[in-house]
Amino acid sequence: MFVTDHLAHCTTRVACTFPGGAEGTGTAFVMNLCVEGSNAIPVLVTNRHVVKGAVTGRFWFTLRKPNANEPDYGKHHNFELDNFSQRWLYHKTLDLAVMPLQPFIQQGQNLGYSYFFSPLTPDLLPSPEELADLPALLDIVLVGYPNGIWDEKNNQPIIRKGITATHPELDYNGRPEFVIDAACFNGSSGSPVFLLELGRTVSRASGMTIGNSRVKLLGILYAGPMHFATGEVRAVEIGQKTIAVTGVPNNLGYVISSRAVKDFEPVLNFLNKNGRLPARNEACPCASTKRYKECCGVTS
Ligand SMILES: [Zn+2]
Repeated sequence: MFVTDHLAHCTTRVACTFPGGAEGTGTAFVMNLCVEGSNAIPVLVTNRHVVKGAVTGRFWFTLRKPNANEPDYGKHHNFELDNFSQRWLYHKTLDLAVMPLQPFIQQGQNLGYSYFFSPLTPDLLPSPEELADLPALLDIVLVGYPNGIWDEKNNQPIIRKGITATHPELDYNGRPEFVIDAACFNGSSGSPVFLLELGRTVSRASGMTIGNSRVKLLGILYAGPMHFATGEVRAVEIGQKTIAVTGVPNNLGYVISSRAVKDFEPVLNFLNKNGRLPARNEACPCASTKRYKECCGVTS
């Protein structure tokens, strides 16, 4: 597979139901965290607002071909989970959530299935030096399910492109995020945003280099500004006037800087080692000297 093929296999659509029956969709991607040698903790990453409060949730994994490390297009498993909201770990301040995947991979293996996906790895996170060396206006792609749209038959996401609208090194308005110019719809929430350079790379220090390629995970889309269109809708029969207000995405998106995914590692390591989450009054594993309920567990 070519590098861009892997980008089409790192995500899953997430479909949630909420109390009262409301439904929503978002995007999650698979990432290996806590990487040590050949060990890693694979997790799904998405936005808190996609899954928080959800009663049930569904996501889909493509099966691997029996005799090759390739996707068996058209064959995928649908995982449907209850108590969905409680299965995620929530970032203490940002709109992010992760869920360990190993139980579901294991569940499939016990039934004789293996899954094909391309987990993102920490080497895709740009270092501070790499971020500082990026020029303004970079080509980016985002992978996800805008308005819930997907290739349901082949379990494939929609890949869109755009540019960085503010510099990924700078905290936009003081928050650990930056802005992209791309078509960002509901359902794209949780989409990984990649710097993608094929056949040439650009750098502040070295200018343009022909022949090189580069992929970096710059961040996770979580919101977009809307402008509001108002119009009059006349209900002719009863002569009343109604104003319709519609939110229209204006093709900008707010993206949480990708380094934030590392914030989950202390709690994931604790969970992996102890088989449970820290108790609410226990010392937080992130070494902040606060209690878990006042630190990384504050939004759980
Ligand atoms: Zn903490």
